[in-house]
Amino acid sequence: MMKHTPFRSIMPIAKRPDLIFEHGSGSWLYDDKENKYLDFIQGWAVNTFGHSSRLISETLCRQAGKLINASPAFYNQPMIDCANTLTRHSVFDQVFFTNSGAEANEGAIKLARKWGAKHKNGAYKIITFENGFHGRTLTTMAASGKAAFSDLFEPKTPGFIKVPFNNAKAVEAAIDSQTVAIMLEPIQGEAGVIPAADEFMYAIKELASKHALLLIFDEVQTGVGRTGELFAYQFYAIEPDIMTLGKGLGGGVPIAALLAKSEVSVFEYGDQGGTYNGNPLMTTVANAVVNEVSKPVFLKQINEKGNYLKQQLEQLSRAFSLGEIRGKGLLLALNTKSRNAPNIVQTCLDNGLLLNAPRENCLRFMPALNISRQEIDQMLDILNKVLKHET
Ligand SMILES: *Cc1c(COP(=O)(O)O)cnc(C)c1O
Repeated sequence: MMKHTPFRSIMPIAKRPDLIFEHGSGSWLYDDKENKYLDFIQGWAVNTFGHSSRLISETLCRQAGKLINASPAFYNQPMIDCANTLTRHSVFDQVFFTNSGAEANEGAIKLARKWGAKHKNGAYKIITFENGFHGRTLTTMAASGKAAFSDLFEPKTPGFIKVPFNNAKAVEAAIDSQTVAIMLEPIQGEAGVIPAADEFMYAIKELASKHALLLIFDEVQTGVGRTGELFAYQFYAIEPDIMTLGKGLGGGVPIAALLAKSEVSVFEYGDQGGTYNGNPLMTTVANAVVNEVSKPVFLKQINEKGNYLKQQLEQLSRAFSLGEIRGKGLLLALNTKSRNAPNIVQTCLDNGLLLNAPRENCLRFMPALNISRQEIDQMLDILNKVLKHET
């Protein structure tokens, strides 16, 4: 069927437009015909400073000429520096670096089970949430609450009890003597940017204390400045026991991390590892990203841009009788009500704007964290035009 396309050697794992992207700069992405696109997807909330930022390309080049991989059997300086940076800026004590968010979450699940084996009579069940997303390994698919995953690749890893999000009663009802942890995204990203309600978070924290359960925050999407705080847990008066990071941590390069408080950091030799884990090429970039994003001036401008985008989207929503704006910082979504969001995304693409529709009635905005107001206005102009003509 795809025999004569240039894509014939690529496994068809997603419906992709017939475009080949060639280079990028900041908020702009260019295809091989030099068409330019304003990018509000940014590698899926990955390119913290936009495409090919100087900070990232220079850091990569410098490290590439120095040391790329010393082996996971040895320490290297960037690994140490990055772990220190992450623990200094968070409530966690130890870090294990991975290559993807799924792998970090897989590690979080293993760590919770290990803790349960050591400290809670072998408790292993983890309460997770409907429509939650934790990755695409078999175990993180089992942890996810994505309906499309439920019948795939059976049998999956057992031990995940799924309950409705923002429903503390359902969480309480699901707890039994074998429960070891509650795992959630502070803002469910793939579900359509659904924030956890404050009351829900406080109730969850209480349940976790009462039943000696670990709290695992999957901040693969919300972490590293995306929501306007360095980490989304900082919005709540809550300290999780375990947190995972990915996406924006590398600003575009593949690195993720599993962080834990010392009481919970119970891996022993041989429990966890990986050939590329903690390599200096990626950890040096992540260290540069976190050092930059954690600067108060940088976080402040994320909030300014996020507030501006939110206000403008509210205006646009009123003008077209659409629904609410959800999310925080520069992770925002617009409820398109009866308008078909995937169709809007397609027309935006035809007009040089890359947007994402995680649901049939939801547009998600995840621009570079250093996007300019002018670029936000350009995005709104295109979206405005598209909404006028698209029915
Ligand atoms: C993207 C994402 C993951 C998976 O990360 P990968 O790097 O694609 O494996 C896990 N959890 C959340 C919340 C995500 O947004």
